[in-house]
Amino acid sequence: MALYLKYRPKDFESLVWQDFVKETLQKAVETDKTVWAYLLCGPRGTGKTSTARIFAKAVNCEKPTKGNPCNTCPICNAINTESLVDVIEIDAASHTWVDNIREIIEKAQFRPTNAKYKIYIIDEVHMLSKWAFNALLKILEEPPEYVKFILATTETHKVPETIISRCQRYDMKSISLDDIKSRLTFIAKEEKIKIDKQSLDYISQNAWGALRNAISLFEQLATENKIEFKDIIKNLWIVEEDILSNFLDKLISKDNSVVWDFEQLISDGKNVKLFFKELLFYTKKVSLNLIKNSKDISSYLHILDVLDSTYSKTKVSLDENTTFLIWILKIITDYSPVISVSNGWAKISTQSAVQVKNADKTPKAHTPKKEIPTQEISATDVWDIFWDSEPTTPKTTIETLLPETKATSDFNTTEYLSHLKKNWAKAMVTLSIKWASISLNDKNLELKFKTKFALNSVNNPDTIALLNKGLIDMGMSDATVKLIG
Ligand SMILES: [Zn+2]
Repeated sequence: MALYLKYRPKDFESLVWQDFVKETLQKAVETDKTVWAYLLCGPRGTGKTSTARIFAKAVNCEKPTKGNPCNTCPICNAINTESLVDVIEIDAASHTWVDNIREIIEKAQFRPTNAKYKIYIIDEVHMLSKWAFNALLKILEEPPEYVKFILATTETHKVPETIISRCQRYDMKSISLDDIKSRLTFIAKEEKIKIDKQSLDYISQNAWGALRNAISLFEQLATENKIEFKDIIKNLWIVEEDILSNFLDKLISKDNSVVWDFEQLISDGKNVKLFFKELLFYTKKVSLNLIKNSKDISSYLHILDVLDSTYSKTKVSLDENTTFLIWILKIITDYSPVISVSNGWAKISTQSAVQVKNADKTPKAHTPKKEIPTQEISATDVWDIFWDSEPTTPKTTIETLLPETKATSDFNTTEYLSHLKKNWAKAMVTLSIKWASISLNDKNLELKFKTKFALNSVNNPDTIALLNKGLIDMGMSDATVKLIG
Protein backbone atom coordinates (compact mmCIF):
# COMPACT_ATOMS: atom_id res chain seq x y z
CA MET A 1 0.00 0.00 0.00
CA ALA A 2 1.28 3.45 -0.87
CA LEU A 3 2.50 5.36 2.19
CA TYR A 4 0.18 8.22 1.37
CA LEU A 5 -2.84 5.92 1.69
CA LYS A 6 -1.46 4.16 4.72
CA TYR A 7 -0.98 7.43 6.60
CA ARG A 8 -4.08 9.20 5.38
CA PRO A 9 -6.02 10.60 8.37
CA LYS A 10 -8.81 8.19 9.39
CA ASP A 11 -10.54 10.17 12.12
CA PHE A 12 -10.93 13.77 13.24
CA GLU A 13 -8.17 13.35 15.83
CA SER A 14 -5.57 12.64 13.15
CA LEU A 15 -6.64 15.54 10.97
CA VAL A 16 -4.23 17.74 12.87
CA TRP A 17 -3.44 20.24 10.14
CA GLN A 18 -6.95 21.58 9.70
CA ASP A 19 -7.81 22.61 13.25
CA PHE A 20 -10.79 24.78 12.46
CA VAL A 21 -12.40 22.34 10.04
CA LYS A 22 -11.74 19.43 12.33
CA GLU A 23 -13.13 21.04 15.47
CA THR A 24 -16.21 22.52 13.83
CA LEU A 25 -17.22 19.35 12.01
CA GLN A 26 -16.57 17.10 14.96
CA LYS A 27 -18.61 19.35 17.25
CA ALA A 28 -21.45 19.39 14.71
CA VAL A 29 -21.53 15.58 14.60
CA GLU A 30 -21.32 15.30 18.37
CA THR A 31 -24.22 17.69 18.95
CA ASP A 32 -26.18 16.34 15.97
CA LYS A 33 -26.16 19.73 14.28
CA THR A 34 -24.82 18.77 10.87
CA VAL A 35 -26.21 20.41 7.74
CA TRP A 36 -27.05 18.72 4.44
CA ALA A 37 -24.35 20.28 2.29
CA TYR A 38 -20.71 21.17 2.83
CA LEU A 39 -18.26 22.77 0.46
CA LEU A 40 -14.57 22.09 1.10
CA CYS A 41 -12.31 24.49 -0.78
CA GLY A 42 -8.54 24.43 -1.03
CA PRO A 43 -5.45 23.31 -2.89
CA ARG A 44 -4.71 19.68 -3.71
CA GLY A 45 -3.32 17.47 -0.99
CA THR A 46 -4.71 19.47 1.92
CA GLY A 47 -7.05 16.72 3.09
CA LYS A 48 -10.38 17.51 1.45
CA THR A 49 -11.23 13.92 0.50
CA SER A 50 -9.92 12.57 3.81
CA THR A 51 -12.11 15.07 5.67
CA ALA A 52 -15.13 14.08 3.59
CA ARG A 53 -14.61 10.39 4.35
CA ILE A 54 -14.07 11.00 8.06
CA PHE A 55 -17.29 13.00 8.13
CA ALA A 56 -19.15 10.24 6.25
CA LYS A 57 -17.97 7.74 8.86
CA ALA A 58 -18.66 10.05 11.80
CA VAL A 59 -22.33 10.66 10.96
CA ASN A 60 -22.93 6.97 10.22
CA CYS A 61 -20.72 5.31 12.84
CA GLU A 62 -22.46 2.84 15.17
CA LYS A 63 -20.41 3.79 18.23
CA PRO A 64 -18.77 7.20 17.80
CA THR A 65 -16.85 8.88 20.61
CA LYS A 66 -17.47 12.62 20.88
CA GLY A 67 -18.33 12.84 17.21
CA ASN A 68 -15.26 10.87 16.20
CA PRO A 69 -15.74 7.67 14.14
CA CYS A 70 -14.67 4.39 15.79
CA ASN A 71 -13.08 2.88 12.67
CA THR A 72 -13.99 -0.60 13.89
CA CYS A 73 -17.76 -0.96 13.41
CA PRO A 74 -19.08 -2.55 10.18
CA ILE A 75 -20.11 0.84 8.76
CA CYS A 76 -16.69 2.46 9.40
CA ASN A 77 -14.96 -0.60 7.96
CA ALA A 78 -17.13 -0.57 4.86
CA ILE A 79 -16.39 3.11 4.28
CA ASN A 80 -12.66 2.53 4.82
CA THR A 81 -12.69 -0.20 2.17
CA GLU A 82 -14.90 1.91 -0.09
CA SER A 83 -17.54 -0.79 -0.15
CA LEU A 84 -20.50 0.99 1.43
CA VAL A 85 -23.15 1.66 -1.23
CA ASP A 86 -24.53 4.60 0.72
CA VAL A 87 -21.33 6.58 0.40
CA ILE A 88 -21.07 7.67 -3.20
CA GLU A 89 -17.81 9.21 -4.34
CA ILE A 90 -17.77 11.03 -7.64
CA ASP A 91 -14.68 12.55 -9.18
CA ALA A 92 -16.24 15.12 -11.45
CA ALA A 93 -12.87 15.79 -13.12
CA SER A 94 -12.33 12.30 -14.43
CA HIS A 95 -15.81 10.83 -14.50
CA THR A 96 -16.22 9.26 -17.91
CA TRP A 97 -19.98 9.12 -18.10
CA VAL A 98 -20.83 12.73 -17.59
CA ASP A 99 -24.54 12.08 -18.11
CA ASN A 100 -24.54 9.42 -15.42
CA ILE A 101 -23.54 11.94 -12.78
CA ARG A 102 -26.90 13.56 -13.25
CA GLU A 103 -28.65 10.22 -12.81
CA ILE A 104 -26.56 9.40 -9.75
CA ILE A 105 -27.46 12.73 -8.16
CA GLU A 106 -31.12 12.23 -9.03
CA LYS A 107 -31.04 8.90 -7.16
CA ALA A 108 -30.46 10.85 -3.94
CA GLN A 109 -34.26 10.73 -3.67
CA PHE A 110 -34.00 7.09 -2.55
CA ARG A 111 -33.34 6.14 1.05
CA PRO A 112 -29.93 4.74 2.13
CA THR A 113 -29.58 0.94 2.14
CA ASN A 114 -27.45 0.27 5.23
CA ALA A 115 -26.33 3.51 6.79
CA LYS A 116 -28.25 6.28 8.49
CA TYR A 117 -27.25 8.85 5.88
CA LYS A 118 -26.58 8.61 2.22
CA ILE A 119 -23.44 10.66 1.61
CA TYR A 120 -22.40 12.11 -1.71
CA ILE A 121 -18.77 13.13 -1.97
CA ILE A 122 -18.23 15.07 -5.17
CA ASP A 123 -14.59 15.88 -5.81
CA GLU A 124 -13.60 18.70 -8.18
CA VAL A 125 -17.27 19.68 -8.19
CA HIS A 126 -16.58 22.71 -10.42
CA MET A 127 -16.15 20.26 -13.32
CA LEU A 128 -19.80 19.16 -13.28
CA SER A 129 -21.82 19.86 -16.39
CA LYS A 130 -24.59 22.42 -16.38
CA TRP A 131 -27.10 19.55 -16.31
CA ALA A 132 -25.50 17.88 -13.36
CA PHE A 133 -25.38 21.21 -11.48
CA ASN A 134 -29.09 21.67 -12.15
CA ALA A 135 -29.85 18.22 -10.76
CA LEU A 136 -27.68 18.98 -7.73
CA LEU A 137 -29.32 22.34 -7.17
CA LYS A 138 -32.78 20.77 -7.29
CA ILE A 139 -31.84 18.42 -4.47
CA LEU A 140 -30.05 21.09 -2.44
CA GLU A 141 -33.20 23.19 -2.54
CA GLU A 142 -35.30 20.45 -1.00
CA PRO A 143 -32.91 17.91 0.46
CA PRO A 144 -34.32 14.62 1.83
CA GLU A 145 -33.36 14.42 5.54
CA TYR A 146 -31.28 11.27 4.97
CA VAL A 147 -28.91 12.77 2.37
CA LYS A 148 -25.74 14.80 2.85
CA PHE A 149 -23.49 16.29 0.22
CA ILE A 150 -19.81 17.04 0.63
CA LEU A 151 -18.52 18.98 -2.32
CA ALA A 152 -14.81 19.54 -2.76
CA THR A 153 -13.07 21.88 -5.13
CA THR A 154 -9.70 23.38 -5.92
CA GLU A 155 -11.39 26.14 -7.93
CA THR A 156 -14.17 27.66 -5.90
CA HIS A 157 -14.70 30.55 -8.32
CA LYS A 158 -15.96 28.04 -10.90
CA VAL A 159 -18.71 26.72 -8.63
CA PRO A 160 -22.06 28.47 -9.30
CA GLU A 161 -23.08 30.95 -6.61
CA THR A 162 -26.46 29.19 -6.31
CA ILE A 163 -24.66 26.04 -5.16
CA ILE A 164 -22.20 27.81 -2.84
CA SER A 165 -24.99 29.69 -1.08
CA ARG A 166 -26.67 26.41 -0.14
CA CYS A 167 -23.55 24.91 1.43
CA GLN A 168 -21.64 25.41 4.63
CA ARG A 169 -18.24 26.43 3.33
CA TYR A 170 -14.83 25.50 4.73
CA ASP A 171 -11.52 26.74 3.39
CA MET A 172 -8.77 24.21 3.85
CA LYS A 173 -5.41 25.84 4.40
CA SER A 174 -2.11 24.78 2.88
CA ILE A 175 -0.20 22.65 5.33
CA SER A 176 2.69 24.48 6.99
CA LEU A 177 6.31 23.48 6.46
CA ASP A 178 6.66 22.52 10.12
CA ASP A 179 3.55 20.33 10.05
CA ILE A 180 4.82 18.55 6.93
CA LYS A 181 8.20 18.00 8.55
CA SER A 182 6.71 16.61 11.72
CA ARG A 183 4.41 14.28 9.79
CA LEU A 184 7.34 13.01 7.67
CA THR A 185 9.42 12.52 10.80
CA PHE A 186 6.57 10.49 12.27
CA ILE A 187 6.23 8.33 9.16
CA ALA A 188 10.01 7.83 8.97
CA LYS A 189 9.98 6.58 12.55
CA GLU A 190 7.02 4.26 11.97
CA GLU A 191 8.52 2.86 8.76
CA LYS A 192 12.03 2.71 10.23
CA ILE A 193 13.47 4.88 7.48
CA LYS A 194 16.51 7.01 8.31
CA ILE A 195 16.34 10.51 6.87
CA ASP A 196 18.86 13.34 7.27
CA LYS A 197 17.87 16.92 8.02
CA GLN A 198 18.76 18.30 4.59
CA SER A 199 16.58 15.70 2.88
CA LEU A 200 13.71 16.42 5.24
CA ASP A 201 13.97 20.14 4.44
CA TYR A 202 14.22 19.46 0.73
CA ILE A 203 11.18 17.17 0.58
CA SER A 204 9.05 19.46 2.74
CA GLN A 205 9.87 22.52 0.67
CA ASN A 206 9.08 20.70 -2.54
CA ALA A 207 5.65 19.57 -1.36
CA TRP A 208 4.03 22.96 -2.05
CA GLY A 209 1.92 22.76 1.08
CA ALA A 210 0.41 19.42 0.09
CA LEU A 211 1.07 16.53 2.40
CA ARG A 212 0.28 14.03 -0.33
CA ASN A 213 3.14 15.41 -2.47
CA ALA A 214 5.51 15.26 0.49
CA ILE A 215 4.72 11.65 1.34
CA SER A 216 4.90 10.54 -2.31
CA LEU A 217 8.29 12.18 -2.75
CA PHE A 218 9.44 10.71 0.56
CA GLU A 219 8.41 7.24 -0.60
CA GLN A 220 10.02 7.69 -3.99
CA LEU A 221 13.32 8.64 -2.38
CA ALA A 222 13.40 6.01 0.33
CA THR A 223 15.70 3.26 -0.84
CA GLU A 224 17.13 0.63 1.48
CA ASN A 225 15.37 2.27 4.43
CA LYS A 226 17.28 5.51 4.21
CA ILE A 227 17.13 8.88 2.52
CA GLU A 228 20.41 10.73 2.16
CA PHE A 229 20.80 14.13 0.64
CA LYS A 230 23.73 13.08 -1.52
CA ASP A 231 21.46 10.52 -3.23
CA ILE A 232 18.83 13.17 -3.81
CA ILE A 233 21.40 15.32 -5.55
CA LYS A 234 22.44 12.37 -7.69
CA ASN A 235 18.96 11.11 -8.58
CA LEU A 236 16.98 14.29 -8.89
CA TRP A 237 19.76 16.40 -10.18
CA ILE A 238 19.33 19.32 -7.90
CA VAL A 239 20.49 21.70 -10.45
CA GLU A 240 23.68 23.62 -10.13
CA GLU A 241 23.37 27.28 -10.84
CA ASP A 242 25.57 27.37 -13.94
CA ILE A 243 23.34 24.78 -15.65
CA LEU A 244 20.27 26.87 -14.90
CA SER A 245 22.05 29.98 -16.04
CA ASN A 246 23.05 28.36 -19.31
CA PHE A 247 19.51 27.10 -19.93
CA LEU A 248 18.00 30.50 -19.19
CA ASP A 249 20.48 32.31 -21.44
CA LYS A 250 19.53 30.04 -24.31
CA LEU A 251 15.83 30.72 -23.76
CA ILE A 252 16.41 34.46 -23.65
CA SER A 253 18.48 34.41 -26.83
CA LYS A 254 16.02 31.94 -28.44
CA ASP A 255 18.80 29.48 -29.09
CA ASN A 256 17.33 26.28 -30.56
CA SER A 257 19.89 24.02 -28.95
CA VAL A 258 17.96 24.42 -25.70
CA VAL A 259 15.54 21.83 -27.11
CA TRP A 260 18.29 19.26 -27.18
CA ASP A 261 19.45 20.21 -23.72
CA PHE A 262 15.90 19.45 -22.67
CA GLU A 263 15.89 16.10 -24.46
CA GLN A 264 19.16 15.31 -22.76
CA LEU A 265 17.46 15.90 -19.40
CA ILE A 266 14.75 13.40 -20.31
CA SER A 267 17.09 10.78 -21.66
CA ASP A 268 19.23 11.10 -18.53
CA GLY A 269 16.09 10.19 -16.57
CA LYS A 270 16.09 13.44 -14.60
CA ASN A 271 13.00 14.72 -12.86
CA VAL A 272 11.91 17.28 -15.41
CA LYS A 273 9.22 18.85 -13.26
CA LEU A 274 11.68 19.57 -10.49
CA PHE A 275 14.15 20.98 -12.97
CA PHE A 276 11.58 23.47 -14.21
CA LYS A 277 10.66 24.45 -10.72
CA GLU A 278 14.31 25.22 -10.00
CA LEU A 279 14.40 27.16 -13.25
CA LEU A 280 11.34 29.15 -12.20
CA PHE A 281 12.97 30.14 -8.91
CA TYR A 282 16.26 30.92 -10.59
CA THR A 283 14.58 33.12 -13.21
CA LYS A 284 12.71 34.92 -10.46
CA LYS A 285 15.98 35.58 -8.66
CA VAL A 286 17.68 36.89 -11.81
CA SER A 287 14.71 39.14 -12.62
CA LEU A 288 14.65 40.64 -9.14
CA ASN A 289 18.37 41.38 -9.36
CA LEU A 290 17.92 43.02 -12.74
CA ILE A 291 15.05 45.18 -11.58
CA LYS A 292 17.08 46.32 -8.58
CA ASN A 293 19.62 47.61 -11.07
CA SER A 294 16.88 49.23 -13.18
CA LYS A 295 17.42 46.86 -16.09
CA ASP A 296 14.76 45.72 -18.56
CA ILE A 297 13.20 42.42 -17.48
CA SER A 298 10.49 42.00 -20.10
CA SER A 299 11.90 38.81 -21.64
CA TYR A 300 12.42 37.29 -18.19
CA LEU A 301 8.91 38.25 -17.23
CA HIS A 302 7.57 36.52 -20.31
CA ILE A 303 9.46 33.35 -19.39
CA LEU A 304 8.18 33.49 -15.81
CA ASP A 305 4.64 34.09 -16.93
CA VAL A 306 4.48 31.21 -19.42
CA LEU A 307 6.43 28.84 -17.19
CA ASP A 308 4.16 29.52 -14.25
CA SER A 309 1.02 28.66 -16.20
CA THR A 310 2.71 25.66 -17.85
CA TYR A 311 3.60 24.30 -14.45
CA SER A 312 -0.01 24.24 -13.34
CA LYS A 313 -1.02 22.61 -16.63
CA THR A 314 1.25 19.64 -15.98
CA LYS A 315 -1.10 18.52 -13.21
CA VAL A 316 -3.71 17.57 -15.76
CA SER A 317 -1.49 17.09 -18.75
CA LEU A 318 -1.40 13.79 -20.64
CA ASP A 319 2.32 13.97 -20.83
CA GLU A 320 4.35 16.37 -18.69
CA ASN A 321 7.41 16.26 -20.88
CA THR A 322 5.42 17.32 -23.92
CA THR A 323 3.85 20.16 -21.95
CA PHE A 324 7.30 21.46 -21.06
CA LEU A 325 8.54 20.97 -24.60
CA ILE A 326 5.62 23.05 -25.87
CA TRP A 327 6.57 25.71 -23.36
CA ILE A 328 10.17 25.82 -24.63
CA LEU A 329 8.97 25.99 -28.22
CA LYS A 330 6.56 28.79 -27.37
CA ILE A 331 9.39 30.78 -25.83
CA ILE A 332 11.90 30.29 -28.63
CA THR A 333 9.40 30.81 -31.46
CA ASP A 334 7.17 33.50 -29.88
CA TYR A 335 4.30 31.23 -30.87
CA SER A 336 0.74 32.31 -30.24
CA PRO A 337 -2.35 30.82 -31.90
CA VAL A 338 -4.78 33.07 -33.74
CA ILE A 339 -8.42 32.16 -34.20
CA SER A 340 -10.49 33.92 -36.84
CA VAL A 341 -14.09 33.39 -37.80
CA SER A 342 -16.28 33.99 -40.81
CA ASN A 343 -19.83 32.82 -41.56
CA GLY A 344 -20.14 29.10 -41.01
CA TRP A 345 -16.39 28.67 -41.12
CA ALA A 346 -14.11 28.02 -38.24
CA LYS A 347 -10.64 28.91 -39.26
CA ILE A 348 -7.63 28.44 -37.11
CA SER A 349 -4.22 29.45 -38.23
CA THR A 350 -0.90 29.80 -36.56
CA GLN A 351 0.84 33.09 -36.73
CA SER A 352 3.13 32.85 -39.68
CA ALA A 353 6.66 34.03 -40.05
CA VAL A 354 8.01 33.71 -36.59
CA GLN A 355 11.71 33.81 -36.43
CA VAL A 356 13.65 30.90 -35.13
CA LYS A 357 17.28 30.30 -35.32
CA ASN A 358 18.36 27.51 -37.56
CA ALA A 359 20.43 25.06 -35.58
CA ASP A 360 21.62 21.64 -36.56
CA LYS A 361 19.93 18.70 -34.91
CA THR A 362 22.76 17.13 -32.97
CA PRO A 363 22.64 17.60 -29.23
CA LYS A 364 25.39 19.90 -28.08
CA ALA A 365 24.82 20.58 -24.45
CA HIS A 366 26.69 23.46 -22.90
CA THR A 367 28.92 24.26 -25.85
CA PRO A 368 29.95 27.88 -26.16
CA LYS A 369 27.49 29.94 -28.14
CA LYS A 370 28.35 30.58 -31.76
CA GLU A 371 26.79 32.83 -34.33
CA ILE A 372 24.33 30.88 -36.43
CA PRO A 373 22.61 32.15 -39.53
CA THR A 374 18.91 32.86 -39.06
CA GLN A 375 16.19 31.77 -41.38
CA GLU A 376 12.48 32.53 -41.47
CA ILE A 377 10.21 29.54 -41.10
CA SER A 378 6.57 29.36 -40.16
CA ALA A 379 5.34 28.16 -36.80
CA THR A 380 3.62 25.21 -38.44
CA ASP A 381 6.94 24.09 -39.82
CA VAL A 382 8.29 24.16 -36.32
CA TRP A 383 5.52 21.88 -35.10
CA ASP A 384 6.15 19.57 -38.05
CA ILE A 385 9.82 19.35 -37.21
CA PHE A 386 9.35 18.59 -33.56
CA TRP A 387 6.21 16.52 -33.68
CA ASP A 388 7.36 14.16 -36.36
CA SER A 389 3.97 14.33 -37.98
CA GLU A 390 2.91 13.34 -41.45
CA PRO A 391 3.15 16.19 -43.92
CA THR A 392 -0.10 18.07 -44.24
CA THR A 393 -1.40 20.09 -47.15
CA PRO A 394 -2.03 22.93 -46.99
CA LYS A 395 0.47 23.56 -44.28
CA THR A 396 -0.50 26.83 -42.71
CA THR A 397 -4.21 26.68 -41.99
CA ILE A 398 -6.83 24.16 -41.01
CA GLU A 399 -10.18 25.07 -42.42
CA THR A 400 -13.50 23.51 -41.77
CA LEU A 401 -16.73 23.89 -43.61
CA LEU A 402 -19.78 23.11 -41.55
CA PRO A 403 -22.09 20.85 -43.55
CA GLU A 404 -25.33 22.37 -44.76
CA THR A 405 -27.38 19.62 -43.11
CA LYS A 406 -26.73 20.67 -39.57
CA ALA A 407 -28.68 18.77 -36.94
CA THR A 408 -29.04 21.82 -34.76
CA SER A 409 -29.05 25.05 -36.65
CA ASP A 410 -27.63 27.16 -33.86
CA PHE A 411 -24.53 25.08 -33.19
CA ASN A 412 -21.47 27.23 -33.40
CA THR A 413 -18.11 25.55 -33.92
CA THR A 414 -16.16 28.59 -32.88
CA GLU A 415 -18.10 28.96 -29.66
CA TYR A 416 -17.52 25.28 -28.93
CA LEU A 417 -13.79 25.59 -29.51
CA SER A 418 -13.42 28.67 -27.41
CA HIS A 419 -15.50 27.05 -24.68
CA LEU A 420 -13.12 24.09 -24.71
CA LYS A 421 -10.12 26.37 -24.78
CA LYS A 422 -11.42 28.38 -21.84
CA ASN A 423 -12.09 25.30 -19.76
CA TRP A 424 -9.20 23.29 -20.96
CA ALA A 425 -6.01 22.82 -19.07
CA LYS A 426 -4.56 20.16 -21.37
CA ALA A 427 -2.40 22.06 -23.81
CA MET A 428 -1.75 18.93 -25.85
CA VAL A 429 -5.42 18.27 -26.40
CA THR A 430 -6.23 21.82 -27.39
CA LEU A 431 -3.40 21.77 -29.87
CA SER A 432 -4.44 18.38 -31.20
CA ILE A 433 -8.00 19.52 -31.81
CA LYS A 434 -6.66 22.39 -33.81
CA TRP A 435 -5.20 19.73 -36.06
CA ALA A 436 -8.61 18.29 -36.77
CA SER A 437 -11.39 19.25 -39.09
CA ILE A 438 -14.70 19.57 -37.30
CA SER A 439 -18.12 18.90 -38.73
CA LEU A 440 -21.55 18.28 -37.32
CA ASN A 441 -23.18 15.30 -38.91
CA ASP A 442 -26.62 14.25 -37.77
CA LYS A 443 -26.01 13.72 -34.04
CA ASN A 444 -22.27 13.30 -34.24
CA LEU A 445 -19.71 15.99 -33.88
CA GLU A 446 -17.01 14.50 -36.06
CA LEU A 447 -13.41 15.39 -35.38
CA LYS A 448 -11.24 14.19 -38.23
CA PHE A 449 -7.58 14.16 -37.28
CA LYS A 450 -4.81 14.73 -39.74
CA THR A 451 -2.17 12.84 -37.82
CA LYS A 452 -2.20 9.74 -35.66
CA PHE A 453 -0.30 11.63 -33.01
CA ALA A 454 -3.07 14.22 -32.72
CA LEU A 455 -5.75 11.51 -32.63
CA ASN A 456 -3.93 9.57 -29.93
CA SER A 457 -3.64 12.62 -27.69
CA VAL A 458 -7.42 12.91 -27.62
CA ASN A 459 -8.53 9.30 -27.88
CA ASN A 460 -9.04 8.32 -24.24
CA PRO A 461 -12.22 8.06 -22.18
CA ASP A 462 -11.53 11.08 -19.96
CA THR A 463 -10.84 13.44 -22.81
CA ILE A 464 -13.82 12.20 -24.83
CA ALA A 465 -15.98 12.75 -21.75
CA LEU A 466 -14.75 16.34 -21.55
CA LEU A 467 -15.44 16.88 -25.24
CA ASN A 468 -18.95 15.57 -24.69
CA LYS A 469 -19.31 17.75 -21.65
CA GLY A 470 -18.49 20.73 -23.87
CA LEU A 471 -21.41 19.75 -26.09
CA ILE A 472 -23.75 19.41 -23.11
CA ASP A 473 -22.64 22.81 -21.81
CA MET A 474 -23.65 24.24 -25.15
CA GLY A 475 -27.09 22.71 -24.89
CA MET A 476 -26.33 19.85 -27.30
CA SER A 477 -27.05 17.01 -24.92
CA ASP A 478 -28.19 14.71 -27.74
CA ALA A 479 -24.98 14.97 -29.71
CA THR A 480 -21.86 12.90 -29.16
CA VAL A 481 -18.30 13.33 -30.21
CA LYS A 482 -16.90 10.94 -32.81
CA LEU A 483 -13.16 10.73 -33.47
CA ILE A 484 -11.95 9.82 -36.91
CA GLY A 485 -8.32 8.96 -37.55
ZN1 LIG B 1 -17.72 3.22 13.52
